[in-house]
Amino acid sequence: MQHVISFLYLVSAALFILALKWLSAVPTARRGVVVGVLGMALAVGGTLLSPEIVSYRWIAVAFVLGTVIGVPMAMMPMTAVPQRTALSHAFGALAAALVGTAEFYLRTPNLDRFTASALALEVILGFLTFTASLMAFGKLQEILPTRPITFPFQNVVNLSLLAAAVVIAVLLVLDPGRTALFPVMAGLALAFGVQLIIPIGGADMPTVISLLNSYAGISAAAMGFVLDNKLLIVAGSLDGSSGFILSIIMCKAMNRSFTNVLFGAFGQVQAQAVAGEKKPVRSATAEEAASILGAANSVMIVPGYGMAVAQAQHKVRELTDTLVRKGVDVKFAIHPVAGRMPGHMNVLLAEADVPYDRLLEMEDANSELPQVDVALVIGANDVTNPAARHDKASPVYGMPIIDVDKARAVMVIKRSMNPGFAGIDNELYYNDKTLMLFGDAKAFVSDLVKELAHTA
Ligand code: NAP
Repeated sequence: MQHVISFLYLVSAALFILALKWLSAVPTARRGVVVGVLGMALAVGGTLLSPEIVSYRWIAVAFVLGTVIGVPMAMMPMTAVPQRTALSHAFGALAAALVGTAEFYLRTPNLDRFTASALALEVILGFLTFTASLMAFGKLQEILPTRPITFPFQNVVNLSLLAAAVVIAVLLVLDPGRTALFPVMAGLALAFGVQLIIPIGGADMPTVISLLNSYAGISAAAMGFVLDNKLLIVAGSLDGSSGFILSIIMCKAMNRSFTNVLFGAFGQVQAQAVAGEKKPVRSATAEEAASILGAANSVMIVPGYGMAVAQAQHKVRELTDTLVRKGVDVKFAIHPVAGRMPGHMNVLLAEADVPYDRLLEMEDANSELPQVDVALVIGANDVTNPAARHDKASPVYGMPIIDVDKARAVMVIKRSMNPGFAGIDNELYYNDKTLMLFGDAKAFVSDLVKELAHTA
């Protein structure tokens, strides 16, 4: 039986690697998901064949419980994916921490130093990721205040909590018989998880979640060493490294550093930044906007979070088809952090069957924009804010943006003058060449399609 299990684990490890490879490109992403699910099914199946299992009763209870929690989670809307991911990390990390706890009490004091070290890492990372992920979920779901909460010497207090947990871990590795220290270590890790998230603003949560993903992965890999399970080591390492790489990509796309995300209390300037004086803007109706779009040779659509909220992607596809039929060259400029998770816009536009070859990455879009007749911004805000290029005082300064202000004309569909995620005003709206198209993205794009049909 052991051979069968090892074979199944080997196949699932290969499938996990293929899944990550295929998930990294839009055309192969669906295949990546299927292969990943298959890999996980084989891994679970292989584990259930294990001869060490004496009764399946509790496993069946856990299976039912997991299904009851998992099915509604799978139905959360696309815009809630970051908080959904935070919840799954919380559960994954809790599982790793609890397995570590059980192993500690089952094996102690007969723990060799290597296993005890892996176990301590698993438990500390598992528990801190559990509370940190729950806090991140609360902030994104707006159950908790999204603004950063800070107090004097916060970083010192937080790092002391972590340092104390690590000191206790070392004591336990040296002498696993001191079992009374174990709950103290677990408690410190749980408290550190809460403290880690409190000073971080809601706008940075997606990056933090991706980092927590990597912590949960490392915890699972450490669990693999404790249980001598090679598949857990492989899967945990893949999870740990991919989460880490994703956090780096997101930090780069926002021109932020890790330390700035974790300790920078980003978002505190929101209130005073928004409450500026009222400046005039130019607005237009769907009829006026449609006549400009219909007369253009080229249109660059810049989608953002508002398109996702309004679920406007199918209407945007209709608008694209209508304009293309009229001979307009339509392309899409995709900012790497538009929306609320990396690839958010790609997923939505793929769902609406917008051809991939119309999608341009930020750098390519920016080199074309000066020759584009109309840049049509649909529910995007921060990722188009020119202040990121020149205003050193702006919280988004240095973040690469889509240079829509370089197009010959700019139109922005949004419901109001309210700010985006970073909570700051966008000077683009006061530019002479910008026309504001106020309304819900889906309704407004739908009106544009109707107006363009009239002028056929
Ligand atoms: P954004 O700056 O959050 O702006 C979205 C805009 O959409 C808002 O100004 C809002 O204005 C508008 N909107 C909302 N609902 C709408 C609707 N139903 N119809 C029309 N418009 C609607 O979005 P973004 O430009 O996509 O930028 C993403 C932000 O998230 C950036 O600050 C980025 O740093 C941050 N972020 C993203 C990620 C990621 O992985 N994607 C990760 C971390 C942080 P109204 O309320 O006036 O309609």
